[in-house]
Amino acid sequence: MTAVDTLIEHAMVVTMNGAREVITDGAVAIRGSEIVGVGKTDELAVDATEVIDGRRFVVTPGMVNTHIHITGEPLTRGYVPDDTPFEENVFVWLCPLYSAYTEDEERLSAQLAAAEMLRSGTTAFLEAGTVRFVDAVVDGLVEIGIRGRIGKWVWDLPPEPAVYRQSTDEAIANLDKTLATHRRVADGRIQAWSMIVGHTTCTDELWRAAAALAGQYKTGLNFHMSPAAMDPEGFLAQFGERPIVHLASLGVLGPNCVLVHCVHVDDAEIALLARHGCSVAHCPTTALKVAYGVTQIGKMPEMVRAGVNVTIGTDGNNASNYSDMMRATYLVAGLFKDARRDPGMFPAEQAYEMATLGGARALLAADEIGSLEVGKKADIVLHDRDRPEWTPLLNVANQLVWSADGRGVHTVFVDGRKVVDDYHLTTLDEHDLYRRAQAAGEAIVARSGLPDRAKWPRR
Ligand SMILES: [Zn+2]
Repeated sequence: MTAVDTLIEHAMVVTMNGAREVITDGAVAIRGSEIVGVGKTDELAVDATEVIDGRRFVVTPGMVNTHIHITGEPLTRGYVPDDTPFEENVFVWLCPLYSAYTEDEERLSAQLAAAEMLRSGTTAFLEAGTVRFVDAVVDGLVEIGIRGRIGKWVWDLPPEPAVYRQSTDEAIANLDKTLATHRRVADGRIQAWSMIVGHTTCTDELWRAAAALAGQYKTGLNFHMSPAAMDPEGFLAQFGERPIVHLASLGVLGPNCVLVHCVHVDDAEIALLARHGCSVAHCPTTALKVAYGVTQIGKMPEMVRAGVNVTIGTDGNNASNYSDMMRATYLVAGLFKDARRDPGMFPAEQAYEMATLGGARALLAADEIGSLEVGKKADIVLHDRDRPEWTPLLNVANQLVWSADGRGVHTVFVDGRKVVDDYHLTTLDEHDLYRRAQAAGEAIVARSGLPDRAKWPRR
């Protein structure tokens, strides 16, 4: 018998393999960081150090969140009033809050974000760019044990805020340094990407340099584009062409690109995204809360039809106050059904593929994560069936997308290591984390000088 570290047996295993097999009375075997067996329990002859009785569990691959702000937002979650217009949201509220985080607070913020992701079944993420203190953030992420792609908040046009203003040369140096320092950390669980803020915040020189560095370091390129009309209007005014047309002409687009939002895009831009093999991070909760108009003018169904890899992100905690990918996946399945009055839009199975396999491809890790198959990394989630929303279990895809959410996540493995056990992190003291996060949040808003705009009187 083959010796393995962990065997999960007698479970319902949602493999997300090529045939999308669901194995009843299934088993998954883990050795080191890898999956070494997937099949019927009685067919897997292994000798395991730890055996988990899976009768209570639905076993799935970990989800992949392709857009989340792990700094600047988690510790000030929900402080910005939800009736704030987009531009005021960014410039009046978010920039001052981002500026007020200290190094320790950015590390804590990243850990809080990672804790929320892990606890709700997300094992890998692509962040939006750490605002200032990448080294501390990487250290915090390694401690908590999540898988992620990180970078620095890089732009060269905005004159404010002063604490992270950058000239073009400084911006390029920031990219290079982050890539050189953190290209592969902790057995590759944490990897630096070429990340720029995008929108209308970057010169053509910076766009070209960011793409060149992504090529040089053989990694991905990530940026925001066209959540609202402001980006296409800005590019049209300056260059006489829409953003994605302009980026294609600069030679920036490729299969290593993840563009965030892409709500205000036209058909020619969609064709370019498809031709260059790009991925898009669709952030449904942000669209809803910040009123981007995704259900009215969003073209996610057309992108998918054209062959664009549309994936799912949860964005920042003042634009989308939670980081539970299961709740975001539910919205992805539902929004366009209603908008187009067509129940054929984004079936549960497709939405779940976007949250797993699609995210893995976007992270340039399709051969490592996104499904439960032999040879892939053991990034595994055990959903607890012993709960009302999981009962009865008759159609597991519908249950995962339409009934359950991250609160039913019982156990999580990343890279073969059990990082959530019986609803709690194994890698750090959660109660201490939440206590410190509350204190830090209060300190940051006090330091920011922003008003308290909560509408209910406090006494
Ligand atoms: Zn974002």
